[in-house]
Amino acid sequence: MTAAFVLGINMAIAAIFAIAFGVVAATNRGASGARWLAAGYGMGIVDIVLEFLLTQQVDPTPVGVGIFLVFLLAQTFCLIGVAHHYRVAPPWRPMAAIWCLTILAVPLLFSMPYGSSLRLALYQLPYFAMQALFAFVLWRSRRRQALDLLLFALQIVAALLYLAKPAIATFVGRADAPQGYMDTTYAAISQSGSMVTLIAIALVLLLVMMRDTAAEMAARSETDVLSGLFNRRGFDTRAEAALARARRLGEPAVLIAADLDHFKAINDSFGHAAGDGVIAAFARLLRERMPPDAIVGRLGGEEFVVFLPGVNLAEGRAGAEAARVAFAGATPAETGIAQRVTASFGVAQLMPDDSLFDLARRADAALYRAKAGGRNRVGTTLAELSPAPPAQAEAG
Ligand code: GH3
Ligand code: MG
Ligand code: MG
Repeated sequence: MTAAFVLGINMAIAAIFAIAFGVVAATNRGASGARWLAAGYGMGIVDIVLEFLLTQQVDPTPVGVGIFLVFLLAQTFCLIGVAHHYRVAPPWRPMAAIWCLTILAVPLLFSMPYGSSLRLALYQLPYFAMQALFAFVLWRSRRRQALDLLLFALQIVAALLYLAKPAIATFVGRADAPQGYMDTTYAAISQSGSMVTLIAIALVLLLVMMRDTAAEMAARSETDVLSGLFNRRGFDTRAEAALARARRLGEPAVLIAADLDHFKAINDSFGHAAGDGVIAAFARLLRERMPPDAIVGRLGGEEFVVFLPGVNLAEGRAGAEAARVAFAGATPAETGIAQRVTASFGVAQLMPDDSLFDLARRADAALYRAKAGGRNRVGTTLAELSPAPPAQAEAG
């Protein structure tokens, strides 16, 4: 009776989580992991219905086999869902191997005496293996935030629980026939153990999905769709932080401003869509050419900025020059249009007491000089080229 009660609660819980993951999948179309998890918990409900049916069977074997396999199916769906969410390829081969061995073992397993220790151990083996794969997938994802580690630990506990079940059964006693399973203490322990891990894992998974959805939305609000670079908001946040850090460490930093040359004419000749292609190509080139710690943004139109921490003016100039040469030499296959496109650059170095705004203004002034000087070149602000004030230079 007790186990039947726990089983009923398990069913309600499985249903609640099937619905919860279904809602996540419905409201966030990118969440393919949630769809699989909803299916997995849905299979959990089917499994519990079969458990209830089992008590009324004269020949328990067909329903027993159904319970055995449906639960493995529920685990499989959940594993695929977790792998999807963590962007890890589902471990298809180990999963297929578990399924093949399990199906092959069914005749042997169900011909063993019901209460035997070997049968119990064999029965839990596929679940243990599948649960271990969960932990493996999480580990492979290389995500190590608190929630990911908690989920990993829970998967390990769940896996160990399957291993421990035969020992628990031996310790507290078990039924002689499947129909009597629900009346045993073992069933109560086994079912409540499953229930606690089921709830904990599902809750943590929902939290993980919430966390990742929030992070994804934040990233989206800071990313420019066309170029994949940071937009102004994303750039400013990161550049401000990097600037403060450079100042704290007493390291140099450089800001490069870039603007495509005669871009209006390109739009007029090739169309706006082709213009977009050129913008995307320039963005790609910047990302590839600039060092990994560079903060690259598209501030609007065909205007770009790069913040380079730990780089002095000469190095910044060289970086901008390399990007300029690469873009001017880009092939039509790279830019998408059959005409040479160029860009002008302005480089400014971080001065004591500079705000990001001051630095950007000087980079813009340098860019303006590059445009005025004929375009397709890198400009630097006068003040930084000659440390001495102009009046003094004239006097000397
Ligand atoms: P300059 O060499 O002086 O920079 O000349 P320019 O023609 O590039 O002049 P400007 O920078 O003022 O012109 C920017 C043009 O870029 C105006 C607009 O038609 C175009 N533009 C702005 N945003 C976009 C965009 O998102 N996509 C496309 N295709 N064109 C854009
Ligand atoms: Mg322009
Ligand atoms: Mg412009």
